[in-house]
Amino acid sequence: MKLLLTTLMIGYFLHCNVIAKIKNGYFPAIKVAEKCIQNLEYIGSGNLSPEKRDFLQTRMKIAEQKLKRLKQLHHKTEKLIDALNTIHPILFLQIDNIKDKEENITDVYIKAVDVSFFKGKFWGITNLNQSKDNPHVYTSAYGDKTVCVSVVYKFLEQALAFLVHELGHVKYQVPNLADYVNYFNKTYNDTYFGYKKIKKGHAPMDPSHMSVRQTEKEFYKILIAYKKSQKENKNITENKENHKQRISYQ
Ligand SMILES: [Zn+2]
Repeated sequence: MKLLLTTLMIGYFLHCNVIAKIKNGYFPAIKVAEKCIQNLEYIGSGNLSPEKRDFLQTRMKIAEQKLKRLKQLHHKTEKLIDALNTIHPILFLQIDNIKDKEENITDVYIKAVDVSFFKGKFWGITNLNQSKDNPHVYTSAYGDKTVCVSVVYKFLEQALAFLVHELGHVKYQVPNLADYVNYFNKTYNDTYFGYKKIKKGHAPMDPSHMSVRQTEKEFYKILIAYKKSQKENKNITENKENHKQRISYQ
């Protein structure tokens, strides 16, 4: 039993630290918000003047609301990651195992955001930043060897399509970061008049754009097949139920 538990524990930590690179982007913020509430509770347990207690209660209310909102967004992000894994496990694994040019495992933090987050300008964004120490190493607000993808979540299927689009960028940009940043800076400079109406990252010959097109093409093929199989499974279940009912009426 002890051996089994140890094996399970090792498996769990391996999964957390080595295998799982797609991560919920809200997890660190939730930990911070929980710590903040703990600190406020600790301060509240001491002797305080009525004014200070009032102030503390206001702070506590704000902190609790923030935590509640973070947990809602965390839940949406989980649903999105699960949907990707269920519908397109190949893309999930590709991103989950993505490495930069120097073979560094790169974590992909995903965040579902509200429509208002991008003020209607974007449906999703993948950050494009190099580590100060190494031009081949991706960096984001989560630190070196990480990339951050945010997508608008109104409906699950729509958000999944936005996520697949962004992961098309991730697929190309992580292993080709230094070259791509050079290309990006050269292409989308002040003389970028020809493609004015095209968003940065989507010039016709942009390799990241081409990766997105290919990734989306594969995804829609898989989505159609997935929906078809879901429909067939539903029909089989309904037929079985009808058959059972007919038997019980006989
Ligand atoms: Zn894009």
